[in-house]
Amino acid sequence: MADAPRYVGRFAPSPTGPLHFGSLLAAVASYLQAKHTGAAANVGAVANVGAVLRTAIAGTWHVRIEDLDPPREAPGSVASILSTLDRFGLHWDGEVTYQSRNHERYEAALERLQADGHAYRCACSRKEVADSSVLGLEGPVYPGTCRQGVADGKDGRAWRVRTTHTPIVFDDAVFGHIVQDLEALTGDFVVKRADGHWAYQLAVVVDDAADGITEVVRGADLLDSTTRQIHLQRLLGLPTPAYLHLPVAVDDDGKKLSKSTGAIPLDAGNEAIALWAVLAFLGQAPPPELRDAGALDTVWEWALENWDPGRLPAARTRGLIWYAHE
Ligand code: GLU
Repeated sequence: MADAPRYVGRFAPSPTGPLHFGSLLAAVASYLQAKHTGAAANVGAVANVGAVLRTAIAGTWHVRIEDLDPPREAPGSVASILSTLDRFGLHWDGEVTYQSRNHERYEAALERLQADGHAYRCACSRKEVADSSVLGLEGPVYPGTCRQGVADGKDGRAWRVRTTHTPIVFDDAVFGHIVQDLEALTGDFVVKRADGHWAYQLAVVVDDAADGITEVVRGADLLDSTTRQIHLQRLLGLPTPAYLHLPVAVDDDGKKLSKSTGAIPLDAGNEAIALWAVLAFLGQAPPPELRDAGALDTVWEWALENWDPGRLPAARTRGLIWYAHE
């Protein structure tokens, strides 16, 4: 093959527990985007190429472990996530990367934001922010207390990035046109926490650019993070990838499936059924015979042939009740 594949996707789990049905969704969808849609994009051709050709022209798919928050990490979960991916046939390209090894990159990004006057120190406690704010996208909007400098006698250990009222606009492949005014909806947001940990928003932007990611596929719980990420990309002079957000699997009470719950177990021996259920959840309408045959390879063959992102449901959440009644 003359050219390296242009499509680069990724799956970026936080190691807070083993992989479960909810996180498998993002792994499978990002993989299929790279290996099916990415293949077509790479040759500028129709999607229905044969399996052999598709493998040759497929996009690359990376796994990045987002281990920036040690207190939230569950011992053993990295090994468990990787072995589950492997067991499901979700084979990543290149080495697995770890955010915990990328601190220098994040430091350099923060230095650049500081040097350009985009970042400032903040001494506000969580409670102070909550007390003095209106509610925005994800809780209180930062009122800008430390924008002009930290008050005398206070210790500014967190870093925030300035936002503006200029709308940030992007087109999500599933949710369509999104327009957000960050100053109104989040206010200046944290890029380095007071406890010294890097904020997800900064780290993910720096790593997506460093890894050359061309499309981000992930759960819709992060749809509203995207404009903050695009804002940071612009301030840092980094490219903006395409975005595709997936419905989040919720339990009967409407709560996001946690690492340990889920109606569909990912146990050894259940891979074909679980993959089939992922495809059904993602609106792909896999034939029931495929589930009944119970062969993982056959489900993958079908998925690689028939994956259609146009069928993904544009809903932020989706319950699992439908599955029980299939
Ligand atoms: N680490 C995040 C999670 O496990 C995903 C981040 C992303 O895909 O941008 O929910």
